[in-house]
Amino acid sequence: MEEILVETYRPEETFELGRKIGAQAVPGSIYTLIGDLGVGKTIFTKGVAAGLGITEPVNSPTFTILQVYEEGRCPFYHFDVYRIGDVSEMDEIGYEDCFYGEGICLIEWADLIEEILPEQYTQITISKDLEKGFDYRKISIKRK
Ligand code: ADP
Ligand code: MG
Repeated sequence: MEEILVETYRPEETFELGRKIGAQAVPGSIYTLIGDLGVGKTIFTKGVAAGLGITEPVNSPTFTILQVYEEGRCPFYHFDVYRIGDVSEMDEIGYEDCFYGEGICLIEWADLIEEILPEQYTQITISKDLEKGFDYRKISIKRK
């Protein structure tokens, strides 16, 4: 399995990595985002949105699970499943239309819904290493 490692030292660099990925993303692609609270998942997501041409503000849809942005070059489905109780909630919001549609899906805390992830997706894991500084982040990108 191919893994790309990127190290960032400022939030702007994490945003920029997201922007590049958003600019290159092929419609139908799914990105999962794994990492502790406050590690930078939403900053990265804002970058992806910018790369897709979305100018409206993007925030963590913590209380709604799914936020849809139609403004970019293809639909952008931003999931944050942190507060999900049961995967059946994903059925209720019609996740299959997003996962198997013509937009880009990005799922924060995707490890909580692993059982419904499709066979192919790109897993992005962000982690800190305090020995390398408070703003250091290690970002791993793996094609599954
Ligand atoms: P999450 O969505 O993972 O809970 P957020 O993106 O909301 O995290 O917040 C990340 C926080 O970490 C922000 O306050 C941001 O300024 C800070 N931060 C510091 N250094 C970095 C970095 N290198 N990359 C991303 N965020 C960083
Ligand atoms: Mg977040």
